[in-house]
Amino acid sequence: MVGWVIGWQLPQQGKTMQHEGLYRAQQPHTALVVVDMQNDFVDPQGALAVPHALTILKPIAALIQAARLASTPIAYTMDWHPPRTRHFRAWGGCWPVHGVADTWGACLHPELPIAGPCFRKGMGQEDGYSGWSACCEEHAGQWGRAADAPLLLSAWLGQLAVCTVVITGVATEYCVAATAADALEAGLAVVIPRGCCAAVDQGAGQAALERLRQGGAVLLDEEDRDGLPQRAAGHAEY
Ligand SMILES: [Zn+2]
Repeated sequence: MVGWVIGWQLPQQGKTMQHEGLYRAQQPHTALVVVDMQNDFVDPQGALAVPHALTILKPIAALIQAARLASTPIAYTMDWHPPRTRHFRAWGGCWPVHGVADTWGACLHPELPIAGPCFRKGMGQEDGYSGWSACCEEHAGQWGRAADAPLLLSAWLGQLAVCTVVITGVATEYCVAATAADALEAGLAVVIPRGCCAAVDQGAGQAALERLRQGGAVLLDEEDRDGLPQRAAGHAEY
């Protein structure tokens, strides 16, 4: 079902292919957002390693590949904190030091395919859980914006006329949940493949997903993948 959203069919071949392709007309409406798949969260040696985060690398990479083949927009969010911030325990927050700008821990995991712009968050004294207002300096000055005005993820999605976001990454109950909640609040359809998310605390992660489901998000389970081609055919109007 994830593939139905991102797209599974190569129209020129006229047959469904798992993890590949898309009905071209669907493309402008959907984007894939990969949340915080950085060394500090994904690598077991990371400062704030999220349990099982390594196991979602391959499923996310498969989604990225499907999206690339379909020319579906892909965005990445990243914690990008200053060395001293109230987000960290030492300065009044609740987290160990992590995701510090320009460090190994803040880099996206090397096994994660990069196929789109990176949006940074938490660059000041704020927590920066949601990627919705994360910034991309590389896109500053585009679409009529001032040259020194970083582009927000929300604005980037808006410029691309995205109305559905597939949200993946870590941590489920923090940055994935906050990003998804903001997307729902903004009126977008939100799809969350459970197998492409990892939580700091399993119970809290499940609870967060359930709240998002009640808020309108569509949660996909692993078994939904099996029916992808059929569902794709059934949702050709999407
Ligand atoms: Zn952080």
